[in-house]
Order: sequence, then structure tokens, then C-alpha cells
Amino acid sequence: MLEIIDLHAKIADTETEIIKGLNLKVAAGEVAAIMGPNGSGKSTLSYILSGREDYEVTSGDILYNGESILELDAAERAAKGIFLAFQYPVEIPGVATMQFLKVAMNEQRKARGEAELTTPDFIRRVKEAAGDLKIDMDMLKRPLNVGFSGGEKKRAEILQMALLEPKLCVLDETDSGLDIDALKIVADGVNALKSPDRATIVITHYQRLLDYIVPDSVHVLYKGKIIRSGDKSLALDLESNGYADIIGEAA
Ligand code: ADP
Ligand code: MG
Ligand code: MG
Repeated sequence: MLEIIDLHAKIADTETEIIKGLNLKVAAGEVAAIMGPNGSGKSTLSYILSGREDYEVTSGDILYNGESILELDAAERAAKGIFLAFQYPVEIPGVATMQFLKVAMNEQRKARGEAELTTPDFIRRVKEAAGDLKIDMDMLKRPLNVGFSGGEKKRAEILQMALLEPKLCVLDETDSGLDIDALKIVADGVNALKSPDRATIVITHYQRLLDYIVPDSVHVLYKGKIIRSGDKSLALDLESNGYADIIGEAA
């Protein structure tokens, strides 16, 4: 589903290269974990996948279902089913969360050639998904993310993901700032979306999340490239031994 080939990328309008020859393949149905020390380029990779314009790909390619997406903007990528749950969700004052969800869902449906949701159908779907994520409907009347706690923001991201039914989900440190109960709820939400035609990339600094979202593959990102790939035992290794050995061997 996703193939990243020798990707190099820099911050737009600078010479600062952040992604330095990154290769990664993720198959449909797969849950891939990307781990790595702070400052490795994990968030940058997720922004580049989502099509954020602050970054410029200088060489290499990103194939999604076999086709390059480099020329597509963020909205076009979202329409194709690529979803990014942000490490730092953006606050949108003045837009009620419900309103935001309705517009996002209907845009997605339009892109798929489906009819707009009726209001009762929309509300039913939101209630169901919010209930699964233990999100209070009152919270959804407030402006998106404004004044939400860290945990509420992360749940709101997973709610959007559940409602938009993307094909490629990228979760950037969705575990940071969550207590263990919230972590389990979020992990359940992600696990419920697992399906043979969907791929998920879970970016995390800690192995803890991977106790609840069990990955099929684990990749270590360091200084802008993948320096080690393995199965879930790699995450356990990292937890007990840290990154130093793998970084040393890669150097
Ligand atoms: P991670 O998510 O793995 O912690 P990031 O992708 O946030 O890493 O950052 C990777 C590196 O790129 C860091 O050294 C960071 O300081 C740098 N970086 C990211 N965005 C910018 C920016 N807009 N301007 C300058 N440096 C940046
Ligand atoms: Mg970081
Ligand atoms: Mg980050």
C-alpha cells in the first residue's frame, strides 16, 4: 500500500535536510510501528506523508497503491484515504467539533462519490464512535481542540479517524500525554479499525503503546532514515536496551 523509496526531504526554503534516504514498505492490513529518539524525523515524516507544504521532497518517491503522491496536495491525499493524527492537534477556535466532523465526513464522501450524510445519520454515527472512545457528546459542541486536555485531543483525533474510515492511518505519538486508561481506550479505537484493506503506521517514542496495539513490523528511525527493521520483539529489545546499541551498529 505504501512504499517510500530513498526519500530525501528538507524544510522548505532552507537547506536543512531532515529525511535522509528513508526506505519503508507497509502492506495493506499491516500495523507498522516507527520508533526512534526525539529529533529523529518521525513527525517530519508524518507531515510529509500528509502533504504539508512546509517540507520539500528533494529526491526519492512515495508510492501509495503503486502511484506517486508527491504531486498531490494535503486535501487530495486525504481524499485518497490518507489520514494523519497529529502529535500536537491543532486548535480551531470558532468551529464546533461537530460541525468540523460533518464537513470533514461529507468532503470525504464527496471525494468517494457518495451522497451527503443526513443529519440523523451523521449524529448516529458520531454518537456510536464517540461512545466507543468514551467521549462525552458535550465535548463535541465545543470548538475543535480548544481547551481540550491532552487526552481529549488525542481521543478527538481517533474519533476523526474512526469516522473518516481512512485507508492509511498515521498516528504520531498518539500515546504521549495519555494516562493508562486513556491509552487503552485509544488503542482499542485503533485496533477496532484494523482491517485487511487498511494500513496503520504507529509512531511512538515508547514501547508501552505497543503492548496494546501489537505491530506486525517495527522500524527504528534515526537521523532521517530507517536504521533497523524487525518484528515486535525489536520494540521489546529497545525497551530493555535503549537505542544506543542499534545506533552504534548503524554508525
Ligand atoms: P521527532 O518527531 O522524531 O522528534 P521531528 O520530525 O519533530 O523529530 O524533528 C526532526 C528534526 O528536524 C529535529 O532536529 C528538529 O529540530 C528539526 N526540525 C523539524 N521541523 C523544523 C523546522 N520547521 N525548522 C527547523 N528545524 C526543524
Ligand atoms: Mg519529538
Ligand atoms: Mg515528533
